[in-house]
Amino acid sequence: MRIDPETIRLIQQTADIVEVVGDYVSLKKRGANLWACCPFHNEKSPSFSVAPAKGIYKCFGCGKAGDVIRFVMDVEGLSYPEALRHLAKKYGIDVPERELTPDEVLSQNVKESLYIVLNHAKNHFQKTLFEYSEGQSVGYPYFKERGFNDLTIKTFELGYSIDEWEGYTREALKGGFTKDILEKAGLTIFRDDKQYDRFRGRVIFPIHNVSGKVIAFGARILKTDKTANQPKYLNSPETEVYHKSNILYGIFQAKQAIRNADTCFLVEGYTDVISLHQAGIHNVVASSGTSLTLEQIRLIARFTQNITVLYDGDPAGIKAALRGTDMVLEEGLNVKVVVFPDGDDPDSYVKKVGGEAFKRYIEESAKDFITFKAELSLREAGNDPFRRAEIIKDMVESISKIPDSIKRTVFFQKTASLMGISEEVLIAESNKIYIQAQKQKQKDKEREQNRQRLDQKNQQPPSPTADGSMMSFSEEDGEFLGEFLPDIPPPQTSDPVKQAPEKPSRSPVSYQEEEFVRLMISYGTKPIDPVAAPGVSLMQYLLSEIDGITFDNAIYQQIVSICRDNFLNGLVLDSSFFIGHVDSNIQTESINLITLSEKHQTSENWSKMHQIWVPTETDKLHDMAYTNILRLKKAHNELRMATLKKQLAQTHEPEAQNVILNEFLEAKLLEKEIAKLLGTVIGK
Ligand SMILES: [Zn+2]
Repeated sequence: MRIDPETIRLIQQTADIVEVVGDYVSLKKRGANLWACCPFHNEKSPSFSVAPAKGIYKCFGCGKAGDVIRFVMDVEGLSYPEALRHLAKKYGIDVPERELTPDEVLSQNVKESLYIVLNHAKNHFQKTLFEYSEGQSVGYPYFKERGFNDLTIKTFELGYSIDEWEGYTREALKGGFTKDILEKAGLTIFRDDKQYDRFRGRVIFPIHNVSGKVIAFGARILKTDKTANQPKYLNSPETEVYHKSNILYGIFQAKQAIRNADTCFLVEGYTDVISLHQAGIHNVVASSGTSLTLEQIRLIARFTQNITVLYDGDPAGIKAALRGTDMVLEEGLNVKVVVFPDGDDPDSYVKKVGGEAFKRYIEESAKDFITFKAELSLREAGNDPFRRAEIIKDMVESISKIPDSIKRTVFFQKTASLMGISEEVLIAESNKIYIQAQKQKQKDKEREQNRQRLDQKNQQPPSPTADGSMMSFSEEDGEFLGEFLPDIPPPQTSDPVKQAPEKPSRSPVSYQEEEFVRLMISYGTKPIDPVAAPGVSLMQYLLSEIDGITFDNAIYQQIVSICRDNFLNGLVLDSSFFIGHVDSNIQTESINLITLSEKHQTSENWSKMHQIWVPTETDKLHDMAYTNILRLKKAHNELRMATLKKQLAQTHEPEAQNVILNEFLEAKLLEKEIAKLLGTVIGK
C-alpha cells in the first residue's frame, strides 16, 4: 500500500499550505507571512505563522513546525500515508492503488477501518433512502415534511435505515466487513448468537468530523405505534473515532462560512442546523443535546472568536442557553444570545420568516451575554433584595472569567447601571474572585513546571526547546508578535509556554554543530567560492572538512549522515528536502534552522532598502563556513582533551598513561594551530 515517490512529490507540489491551513484557522497577512492563533495549543494572540514561499508553518508558542503534510498529520491525527491521501483527495490527485480486500482492511489500523465502515454504512443508508421502497415511502416523506430539498439531503448525506433486525449487518458482512469492526463502529449489536442493527426504522443524520469524514450517526425514530420503549433520538456510542464532547454537528459544512462571517451560530438540534443551512445561513453548528464542552468551544475558536447562541424562547431553552456560556467567556470568546418568540425555535422561525428576515432578526435582537443574563435575572428576582444580591454575585463571577481587561471594565459599567449599583462594589467583589483564581493558577503552574523539568531530564536526545534554540526564536520575535496583542492581557492569561524558563547552559559544541547544520541545509547547493574554487558546492566543502568527526547532538549527526550518503550518490540536498522530511524531529529542527537563515536574509533586505550595504550570508559563505569549521573543530578538540584528562586520572599503568599523554599533547598542538588560524590567543 505504499504511495510511489512520484505521487508524493506531486502532492507536495500541488497542496497549497495557505489553503490547507486556512481550512482550520483564519490566517491574517502580516509582512511576508500569515499569522493565526495556533490550532495546536490554546492561545489568545497569534503566534502561529505560515511562510507561503517556503511552504512551511511554525508556532513560536508551542514550537510545532512542519510542511503541509505534517500539518494535516498533526491537525487530523493521521498517519503519513493517510495525510497524503487526504491531500490527494482535496486536490483531485489520483493515488494509484488497488481496491482493498477484506483482509487488507482488517490489517489496517482500527481507526482507518472505522472510517471505511462508517462511510460504507453512510452510503448504504443514503441508498436505502433513495432507492428502497421503504426509504421512499417512510424516510423520504419525513425529510420533505421538514421542508428539506434534495440538495440539502445530499449536502448533509441524510439517509434511512430499514425497519429490519439485520438489514445493514447482512449487507456489511457480505461486503467483507468483520463482526469485530461492525461492533467497534457501533453499527451492529452482537448478543449471544444473535446480531442486530443498532439503527432500525430511523432517519439517519451522519455526523462528520471537521475534515468531512463520517464518524458517527444520529438517528430519529419515525414509527410511533410499537416504539413506546424506544428513544426518539439514538446516537452512535463513543468509539475510537467518535467522542461526543469533541465534536459539533455541522462543523464540516459550516467551517468555511464561519470563517467568512467571523461568527458561529450555535443551535440545539440537527434539524435547526439543516433548516438554517437550506435558508442560506451556513455558519451554524449544533452541540446536539449535550451542554457545550471546552473542546467544542476550542473547535469553534479555530475559526472565529464570536459565538451567537440561538435557542428556543421557552424557559428550558433559555436555561440551556445560559449553561456553558461562562466557559465560552473564559476562553476569551465573545458571546451573544438570541431568544426566539415564545413557541419558536430556529428551525420553525426560519421557515416562518425566511433566511433574510431571520438574519435581520438576529442582528436586531442579539444581546451580549452579560446584558442578557442581567435582564433575565432581574425580571425573575423582582424587588427581592436577597435574590438581587445573589444575582450580582453571579454576574460578577461571569464577568471575572473574561480574560480581556477592557471588555471586563465595559461589562462592569453595564452591569452597574442595569443593577443600579456602584461599579466599585462590583470590582471589589471581582478582585476577591480574581485573587482566589490567581492562587489556584499559581499552584497549577508550579505543578506543570515540575512536570516539565522532569520531562526534560528524561528526554534523550535534547529537544529543540531543551537546548534553548527555540526560546531564542520566541524572544526575538516577541517584539514583532507584540503587534498582534489586541490589549494588555491580565496576568492570568499569560501563556506558560512563552515565559522563558532559566536557559539551560549550552556547550560551545552544540552551538557550532547547530551553525554547521544550518549553513549546510540552508546553503548547501550554493558555490563556496565561484572564483577560487569553481564548481565546488558548500555541501562538498563542509562534508570534506569534518571527516572523522561524530556530532554530539544526535539529530545533527543524523542530518549530516543523510547529507553525506546522498552526496556520495551524487546528490546535493537542498532545504526543501528537509522541510518535507518524514521524521518529525529532523523536520522541526530543520525548519527552525532554515527560519533562522531566512531571518538573516530579511534583515539584510532591510539594510538594502535603507541603502546600507551589508554583505548577505550568501556573499560570505566561504568565510562563515571556514570560521564555523575551525570553531567546531576547536570545540570537539576541547571535548576530547577533557575526556583524556578524565581517563588519565583513572589510569595507573605508566604505559597506558604515556599513550594518553601523547594523545593529549597532540590535541594541545591542534588547539594551538586552530587558535592561530582563528586569530585568537590562548593563555598558558
Ligand atoms: Zn502552538
